[in-house]
Amino acid sequence: MRQLGRQAGNALTQTRTIPAPEDLHLELIGVPVGADVTLEVRFEAVSEGVLATGTATAPLAGECARCLTPVTSSVTVSFQELYLYADGRHDKQGKHDRHDRHDEEDEQDEQELYHLNGDQLDLEPAFRDAVVLALPMSPLCREDCPGLCVECGAPLADAGPDHRHDEAADPRWAALKQLADTKDNRRAGAIDLQEG
Ligand SMILES: [Zn+2]
Ligand SMILES: [Zn+2]
Repeated sequence: MRQLGRQAGNALTQTRTIPAPEDLHLELIGVPVGADVTLEVRFEAVSEGVLATGTATAPLAGECARCLTPVTSSVTVSFQELYLYADGRHDKQGKHDRHDRHDEEDEQDEQELYHLNGDQLDLEPAFRDAVVLALPMSPLCREDCPGLCVECGAPLADAGPDHRHDEAADPRWAALKQLADTKDNRRAGAIDLQEG
């Protein structure tokens, strides 16, 4: 941040590719750890600190909520965060001390604030919040994914519109069919023995 200086209004834009941090996922989909995340961030000096305005694009991998086939896509998010200058503040090292929660009011006040750490600012929390909010709760392989056959579990997209199990509609028939299947298997086994 040294290049930026503290003259309010100074601005600088950086583009970089960084490996995705861990734990950027919901149950069904997320950003693979270490995947390339493209970040473009504009840093602007304001009177109390540095305002970071960023756009990030990250790849996504997961599975379809209906048919469980693998899904890959990507997500683009925007975020903005103000990083306060740390100097001149009594709580310069307060970030670590704050973990003991004796002073809850103070903790609530400080929760939302980020500070510049020397010349560094940590974009990860802002980026992480934006990505997690943007992840789909129910990712789909395609918008009209028909899901799985409730009878046999076959993906209906592959099985086609004619796929059905008429005879299994009544569970009593299903039980009979199971018996019949078992008999067939025995017979097949017996034939094998004779031939062998
Ligand atoms: Zn699907
Ligand atoms: Zn089926």
